[in-house]
Amino acid sequence: MDLRIKDKIAIVTAASQGLGKAVALQLAGERAKVIICSRNKEELKKAKTEIENETGNPVEYFVCDVTNETQVLEMIESIQKKFGRLDILVCNAGGPPAGTTDDFGLDDYRKALELNLLSTINLCNLSVPIMRKNKWGRIVVITSISVKQPINTLVLSNTARAGATGFLKTLSNQIAADGITVNAVCPGYTKTQRVENLAEAFAESGKGSLQDFYAKLEIDIPMKRLGTSLELGQTVAFLVSEGAGYITGVSLQVDGGYIKGLF
Ligand code: NAD
Repeated sequence: MDLRIKDKIAIVTAASQGLGKAVALQLAGERAKVIICSRNKEELKKAKTEIENETGNPVEYFVCDVTNETQVLEMIESIQKKFGRLDILVCNAGGPPAGTTDDFGLDDYRKALELNLLSTINLCNLSVPIMRKNKWGRIVVITSISVKQPINTLVLSNTARAGATGFLKTLSNQIAADGITVNAVCPGYTKTQRVENLAEAFAESGKGSLQDFYAKLEIDIPMKRLGTSLELGQTVAFLVSEGAGYITGVSLQVDGGYIKGLF
């Protein structure tokens, strides 16, 4: 299936590793012009080289912290200046620390809102006027299964991502008639570097083996395995494709069946 995004200008934030990088790889493989960002230049250069070697397509990068308004503005302005357009925005960021309602004060909530809610609003607000000019755009935000089934030990993520989901649904209604779709993907447990680090920390703490860590997660996943970043990347690639033009306002689980609710 040709996704028909060749030469589309696509920005994927927080993409030096993990899910963001997996999305960038898919879009570059579809010959979109991909721009990635994250906070660390060396990591970005490594990701750029890996994606270029694998796809044969050039990738640009920006050192940009998505919570830094000035840096985000400079990045979007420079993309607009260079390419004259922006077609695809994939918003990703790191996740906030794990913990329960006993663990955090207001400052922790503020930081989580900056990272997983306000960064998304800012990126959308800056990108939508550019997309509107061309009457075409695709916005996909990487959220989490926690927006459908809050996870007790992830109160910061539950809180910030619920806000993002409300914002995205509202935005999707507002700009649908401009040819711009807005969707979220909700990854379940997906084997990225971050999850592998958590597994190693678990094993080193003496609580059990690496296998024990994964077995605990897999109990609640009907597919009895973690997802892969490839699966998440390919889902996002479909959502930004021409063919997905009638899908908007959706929060799509990519979770091996983890969510137990009907919607
Ligand atoms: P990861 O830690 O492997 O990668 C995160 C990426 O974001 C890195 O490239 C990092 O440099 C970048 N980043 C972090 N903070 C940033 C910032 N402020 N500005 C710019 N770049 C920043 O994480 P991942 O596993 O790929 O997860 C990506 C997102 O998806 C996270 O928000 C995570 O909470 C969420 N998520 C992941 C899973 C999973 O199982 N992997 C499940 C549900 C939700």
